[in-house]
Amino acid sequence: MADIADRGNEQAEYLLEVALARRAKLPTGPSATHCEDCDEPIPAQRREKVAGCVTCVDCQQIREVSRG
Ligand SMILES: [Zn+2]
Repeated sequence: MADIADRGNEQAEYLLEVALARRAKLPTGPSATHCEDCDEPIPAQRREKVAGCVTCVDCQQIREVSRG
């Protein structure tokens, strides 16, 4: 019965992650192909790594700095 318990834990962890992501208002949708701020193409590597990202690395840093 260990398998069922493990699966239950995995699901619980997944739901927790989703809840935390929603609370943190992280973008979870498909990533943009071009930066929202400077219209530069966003590298595929970044789009895969950062789900729902809408800016390039440079603009993301500017946003984070200006947000304080
Ligand atoms: Zn940009």
